[in-house]
Amino acid sequence: MGDFWLLLYLLLLISVVIVKVCGDWSCFEGTPVQTVRHWCFGGAWDCFLTMVESFLGERGSHAVQEVEYYCCERRNPILQIFYLAIIGGSFLIFFRTSFQYIPSYYISSVHRYTGPLAVFAGIILFLITCFSDPGTITVGNLKQHQTRYAYDGKIYEEKACYTCKIPRPARSKHCSICDRCVARFDHHCGWMNNCIGENNLRYFLAFLIWHCFLCWYGMYILVAILAGQVKQRRLMYLITVYYGHGDTFMEVFPLILEWLLALYHTQILLLLFLMVLSLLLAAFLGYHLYLLFTNMTTNETYKWDAYLKWQSHLAMSKQEAEEKTCPTSNVGRVRSNSFLSKCSFLHIFRRNQSTVAPTLNPAQGRVNIYSAGILMNIVEVMFPSYRTNAHHNSKKPKEE
Ligand SMILES: [Zn+2]
Ligand SMILES: [Zn+2]
Repeated sequence: MGDFWLLLYLLLLISVVIVKVCGDWSCFEGTPVQTVRHWCFGGAWDCFLTMVESFLGERGSHAVQEVEYYCCERRNPILQIFYLAIIGGSFLIFFRTSFQYIPSYYISSVHRYTGPLAVFAGIILFLITCFSDPGTITVGNLKQHQTRYAYDGKIYEEKACYTCKIPRPARSKHCSICDRCVARFDHHCGWMNNCIGENNLRYFLAFLIWHCFLCWYGMYILVAILAGQVKQRRLMYLITVYYGHGDTFMEVFPLILEWLLALYHTQILLLLFLMVLSLLLAAFLGYHLYLLFTNMTTNETYKWDAYLKWQSHLAMSKQEAEEKTCPTSNVGRVRSNSFLSKCSFLHIFRRNQSTVAPTLNPAQGRVNIYSAGILMNIVEVMFPSYRTNAHHNSKKPKEE
C-alpha cells in the first residue's frame, strides 16, 4: 500500500513539473502535455468561473474575480506564507522523524547544529529579499538613475511613466502590482511579494543559490542517514549471508529498497521532494545566472522578443507590399506556390533562396549595449552603485 502511494506521489510530482515547466516548449506542441497545460492555466479557470456564475449568479462570479485580482494583481503575502509553510513544514517533518539519527554511522553530530543554521540562513535571505528596496525611482533620486544607463533606441526609448508622472530611466519599468517605477527592473516576484530590481537582485540570486545548496544538503543528510541505518543494522550481511538472497549489489538493492520503504518512507518522501525541488530551483538559477552573465533582465527578454517579432512583422509587410507592386517577380511566384508554402520540409530548401521571407533570428537581432563582459556584469549586479554613469553608451555594442 505504501508503495502505491509513493508511486502516485512521484507520478503526480513529475506530471506537475512536465506540465508546468515544459508544457510550453516547442517539442510538446500539439501533444496532450500542451493541451493539459493550456487547460490547467486558462481553460480550467474559465470553466470554474462559468460554474460559479451558473450556481451563484453574477455576484458570485464577481466575488471570485475580486479574490483572483487580490491574489494575482495586488501585493499580498499568500506565497510568502506558502514559502514559510514549505520550509518550516519540511524542517519540522525532518526534525520529528530524522533528527534522532544524527549522529549515526555516516553523519557526525555537527549536522545537528549546521542543519538548523542553514535553514535559518535561508529564511533570513528570504526576508532580506522580501523587505529590501528593489530600487524605487522617486523624484529625489531620478537624476542619479537617469545617468546610470543610456537608452538603446530599440527596447528603451526616452519616455515618461504616466502613473508616476516622471521620466522613465533606461532599463526601469513601472510595476503595476507595487505601483512604482523600479530601476533595472527584473520581475515582480510573487514569492517575495516584492519587485526584483537593481538593488535587490543580488539578494534574490543569493536566495536561489542558498536554497539550491539547502536542497542538496538536505538530500546528503537523508542519504547518509539511510545508508547509516543499512550499515548499522548489518542489512547486507543479513540478506546475503543469513538469508542467502543474492551476492551482487544489483541483486540485493531491491530488497534494501523494500526494507527502506517499509521503515523509512517519510525520509524517502522527503528525499524525493527535495530532489524535484532542487531540479526546479537549479533550472531557475541557471536561467538567472545566464541573465547575470549577459547583463540582461527577465523583463528585457520579453521586450526583445516583442521587438524582434515586431521587426519581423515589419519586414514581412514590406515584402508583401513589394510583391503587390511587382506580381511577376520571383517573390510572387514562390509565395504563390501553396504546396511549397505548406510543406515544412521543402521550406528548408526555400530558405536558401534569395526570395525567402525575411525572419529575424533572435540571436542575430538582439544587440545588448549594456553588457560589459561577464566579470563586469557580475560586479554591476553585486555592487549596484558601481555603474554611476552611462559610460557603456560609448562602448561598442556586443552581439548576444
Ligand atoms: Zn511609474
Ligand atoms: Zn512589483
